[in-house]
Amino acid sequence: MPDSSVGRRGVLASAAALAGLVGLGAVSSLAAAPAAAAAEQRRNAASNYHGSPSAFEPMIIEGGTLIDPATGDAIQDAVVVLDRGRVLAAGSRDATSRAVRSVAATARRIDAGGRFILPGLVDAHVHNNTLEDARLVLSHGATTVRSGSSSFYQDIALAALPEWAPGLAPRMHAAGLFVSPQLGDSVLADPALVPLAGLKQGLHDPRDLAYLTRVNIERGANVIKTRANPRAGMAEQDPLELVYDREQLASIVAAARGAGVLCHAYSAEGIAGAVAAGVRSIEHGVFVSERTLAQMARRGTYFTSTLTGVADMSGSSNPVLAERGREYTPVLQAAIRAAAEAGVRVVAGTDAFGTDVIPIGTEAWILQEAGLTALQALQSVTTNAASLLGMEGEVGRLVRGALPDVVLLEANPLESAAALERVSTIIAQGRVVGEE
Ligand SMILES: [Zn+2]
Repeated sequence: MPDSSVGRRGVLASAAALAGLVGLGAVSSLAAAPAAAAAEQRRNAASNYHGSPSAFEPMIIEGGTLIDPATGDAIQDAVVVLDRGRVLAAGSRDATSRAVRSVAATARRIDAGGRFILPGLVDAHVHNNTLEDARLVLSHGATTVRSGSSSFYQDIALAALPEWAPGLAPRMHAAGLFVSPQLGDSVLADPALVPLAGLKQGLHDPRDLAYLTRVNIERGANVIKTRANPRAGMAEQDPLELVYDREQLASIVAAARGAGVLCHAYSAEGIAGAVAAGVRSIEHGVFVSERTLAQMARRGTYFTSTLTGVADMSGSSNPVLAERGREYTPVLQAAIRAAAEAGVRVVAGTDAFGTDVIPIGTEAWILQEAGLTALQALQSVTTNAASLLGMEGEVGRLVRGALPDVVLLEANPLESAAALERVSTIIAQGRVVGEE
């Protein structure tokens, strides 16, 4: 980006990010830099376009029971007011009456009578490569997602979509390319990656891992996806072999400059190395040890267990995968219970791949079946995920200043997380999803 005004705006954004850091911990302070850079990248991407981003119409959602996932509190006959791309007010009729009056003349009204009003849900592990992939994930109520990588930086373009085409795709935390030994055709995603095509054994040198991480960040990724172990879903791979050790993963964490690293890991050794390297979350995590769970609790490492994806292997027509699914499922269920007991924050992720999409509500429900309470399962798709993404106050709760993402449910999720599978209305980025 040679344009000098862009450079200046970039500097201002970094300064603003730094200014906002006072009083926060060192980890949060690092996290702000790539986040600001990614936001800046998105703004600049379409800066020569002749039109301007979409405007928001005010909205009043009224008459339903408002659930606060942080506390489990429920307010009956509640009202949520959306205006200018934010939640203007949320609460009882009394508490919201002023906000309602301020937009009443122009607001669209949505009757939530008999239903439950919740913040849009979060799916913390998806792979979206097309508009259709993203639309399907959103259609189950996941209004915010974290990418577990995409093949040609499509997730980075998807992250720019809400501003221009609200209601079409979820808000996206983009990972860009998977930091993994074999890039395959993804080396063609950017000319800067072509030197990596010459590595006969693939990416193992910590300097190459750091290089790919930096290219991802420069392209606008605000999270980084890597791995400690091979895949479980491919019969010819052994998910308990080690791909990257602590030192290799630490080079990725350092190059990410505070962007959260999500690490695919199955074996006890792989998970322990990733946690020690400082990754932000462990993905899958089947054979996590008690000792590593205690470390995760201490360091604040999150656990995205993708239980539905692991359990679904049991039904595979491939006997190796079916056996793996049957063996892994009870081990992972026990790990989820142990994690919650140890104080590790469990976050729901479906590992949706392409159009093969698991509803995020299904993942929450099977987390409850594994042993979480209904409220803990609800938090895995709301407050815990918001905290993982550094979006507290914006995502996961309907409070003043939060983003205008709302779902209406037919049943009470505090009684059973199965209610999260029955999403009847989705409002994403202030728009009712599925309407013209
Ligand atoms: Zn994945």
